[in-house]
Amino acid sequence: MDSADTEKKPKRGAGAAKKKRKSLARRLLRVVVLLWLALLLVTGCILMWRTSGFTSSQRPATPVKVEISGPAARIERLAQAIRIQTISDGSGPPPATNLFALHEHLRVSFPRVHQSLVRENISEYSLLYTWKGKQPNLPALILAGHLDVVPADPKRWSHDPFAGTVDGSHLYGRGTMDDKVTVMALLEAVELLLEEGVIPERTIYLAFGHDEEVGGYEGAKIIADILELRGVVAEATIDEGMVITEGIMDGISDPVALVGIAEKGFMNLELLVTGAGGHSSMPPRKTAVGILSRAILRLQNNPMPGTFASSVRQMLEAVGPEFGYGRRLVMANLWLFGGMVKSSFSEKLATDALLRTTIAPTMLEGSSKENVLAQEARAVVNLRIKPGDAEESVLAHMRTAIDDPRVVLRVMEMVPPQTSSSSKSRVFHIIEDTLRSIDPSIIVAPGLMLALTDSRHYSKISTDIYRFTAMRLGPEDLQRLHGVDERISLSNYIEIIAFNRRLIRAAAQ
Ligand SMILES: [Zn+2]
Repeated sequence: MDSADTEKKPKRGAGAAKKKRKSLARRLLRVVVLLWLALLLVTGCILMWRTSGFTSSQRPATPVKVEISGPAARIERLAQAIRIQTISDGSGPPPATNLFALHEHLRVSFPRVHQSLVRENISEYSLLYTWKGKQPNLPALILAGHLDVVPADPKRWSHDPFAGTVDGSHLYGRGTMDDKVTVMALLEAVELLLEEGVIPERTIYLAFGHDEEVGGYEGAKIIADILELRGVVAEATIDEGMVITEGIMDGISDPVALVGIAEKGFMNLELLVTGAGGHSSMPPRKTAVGILSRAILRLQNNPMPGTFASSVRQMLEAVGPEFGYGRRLVMANLWLFGGMVKSSFSEKLATDALLRTTIAPTMLEGSSKENVLAQEARAVVNLRIKPGDAEESVLAHMRTAIDDPRVVLRVMEMVPPQTSSSSKSRVFHIIEDTLRSIDPSIIVAPGLMLALTDSRHYSKISTDIYRFTAMRLGPEDLQRLHGVDERISLSNYIEIIAFNRRLIRAAAQ
């Protein structure tokens, strides 16, 4: 009995200890679950609290009736400008005679402008108009555009790209979006303001380069140099760039006007591999072409890291409150959902380009004959540099990604990115207010311009730079830029003139 007792006792003891352990574990689990629930609850509260405070930042709209007299004549003047073929191409800026023809068309079309403003030819073919203000000591305003266009292949167009054809509700032609629309609508607006007897308080410059499509080095750059020499300081420059998007932003049905406050830079980078050359019947294990190909592949497999540049973050902050509750909650809580938003951005090419410096191998050269080993294999990679990245950081990434000393990198051309202008300035607010007065449904947000514009040349004399035209573009219109069937709706063109007129009148004060 004794022995049985002693045998049983520890059993009972072990059972009790087991029970104890179990209940301890259960208690611990309960605590963990409760902690989790508390954490979830707190997180949920933070998410909802932040979302409730994430309200529309759109400025109150005061709608005005837009009326512009004689719309048909204004459209015809734009059509006439389209018919003058000022094409910049691989060989350089447009032919002189065509540029002079366009100058003459402007002179005839806008008599008041040419009576009241001083017009100068810069680098012969670019135009600088000075509209002297009553208080010339006030910081000036620069309104920029360009006179040249890219080539167009008429075979692919539904209308001759240089005939200035009106078909139904649209005017077709190269330059109707980029960028004769800007030049003509600015001049129309100034002509109207002169008609109304407006004299600006601050001096206004209309700066029209003739070679934007080939870099703007003779046009906008020289105009900016001359203005700098004259001691001009501008409060802001407004140039082409971003637009009013319609149906492009997923989840928002209202039009969204994106005003470019920053601009990506650009780099052309050469990758060079030197080989021994010789006949291809006894090739080395790795030819120059092979080594170069591997380098290109490694670049494509290692994109630059994606982060939100200040301009993109500001865009999300401005647009975010306009979404439905779910998306609004995400946008209000980027501290938690930033990674998720970034990966959804990465899925589409257009939004992926907002996140990172893009790497695009564009040119490739090897040997000139089938059976000859290349002595030199060469590739050109075109990078679009995100604000925040610099030449050194980009090159460091490229070297690490390629990880092969046989591939020599050489920077052929580099234009640094343009960092953010203020989205709280007087002029930015005027752009916002003007847009919302012509159409109160428009949501205005800062944005990041992906392509290069002339505006960068004015950065040395201008406190802020805004890249914006009040052009309305839907999803299918984006490819018309530099593409086929470029066109502008007639009503939108008149709206752009009305926008410019109100904007200049307000900003000139
Ligand atoms: Zn352009």
